Amino acid sequence: MEDPTPFWDGEKWTGPITDGHMHLDRMGRFLDAAIDFENAGGTRLILVHKPDFNQLPETIEDVSTAYLETLAMAKDVREATNLGVQVVLGPHPVVWAHQLESLGEETATELHLSSVDLALTHHQEGECVAIGEIGRPHFPVSTEIWNKANMMLEEVLRRCASQNAPVQFHVEDRGASTCQELSEICEKVNYPRSIALRHYAPGDVSSSFTSNLPVTVSMGRGSIGKIASTIDLDCLSDGTHSPVLMETDYLDDPRRPGAVLGPRTVPKRTNELGRHLQNPSNEGGLGWSHHQIANFLWKIHRAWPDALYGECR
Ligand SMILES: [Zn+2]
Repeated sequence: MEDPTPFWDGEKWTGPITDGHMHLDRMGRFLDAAIDFENAGGTRLILVHKPDFNQLPETIEDVSTAYLETLAMAKDVREATNLGVQVVLGPHPVVWAHQLESLGEETATELHLSSVDLALTHHQEGECVAIGEIGRPHFPVSTEIWNKANMMLEEVLRRCASQNAPVQFHVEDRGASTCQELSEICEKVNYPRSIALRHYAPGDVSSSFTSNLPVTVSMGRGSIGKIASTIDLDCLSDGTHSPVLMETDYLDDPRRPGAVLGPRTVPKRTNELGRHLQNPSNEGGLGWSHHQIANFLWKIHRAWPDALYGECR
């Protein structure tokens, strides 16, 4: 590994910056949003497929067309910018929950699982780096639906395990128990926890909270302080810390501007985190050295994304 120390100059991080979970939409700001990210210092984005929630896919052909569109957007971003782009494809668990009624349970579940198989085909061909967002509804559902969602999730993970394909989870937030349950499901179906990443994760990155699942932290207000106060220094220095990425979950939905974090957020928070770690403890910081800060930011933005999804380009 090259020495990342020079990338932290005491004020600003000039090394790689990865957004671990972002969506783009041709009907939204699309290339302008990617360019905003790049101009703010971004270098790599994990582009996650999003279904058209106004017109849900009803056949595997619909899903295929939508996947190809996400792959085409990734190509356009690579051509229009210097960003590295890695794609995540998969059926959204919320679509399944909606379609239980419109399509009926059997058809909705079949469509969901064949969408996973199709994403796995793209993974095998090297066109996407992970399967997602998969998981279970983030809103309250009946016990019956909850159990079915969990059974389906097990089956999805079994299929992904056969190819060692990483996943990004979209799940509810019930604190530490959410990660613990995910971790148990992984174990049950023999899915490697090291590539089972929880997206939209809270800032608590301690292993007691994450159950050692990799996370992409949603970088809203307060996330910096939480990451800084829960990072395990021993695991960080001996290399056993589970991966922590940063994300916006930018939706690029023109009807919901400001509903989520903007594309410049991760670069901005990266510099804030560096300064917070650097500040002396009597000023509320942690008093880290330039070297320590640079090593940590390098892990977040380069080493951990590489470990999960391979080197970009
Ligand atoms: Zn998302």
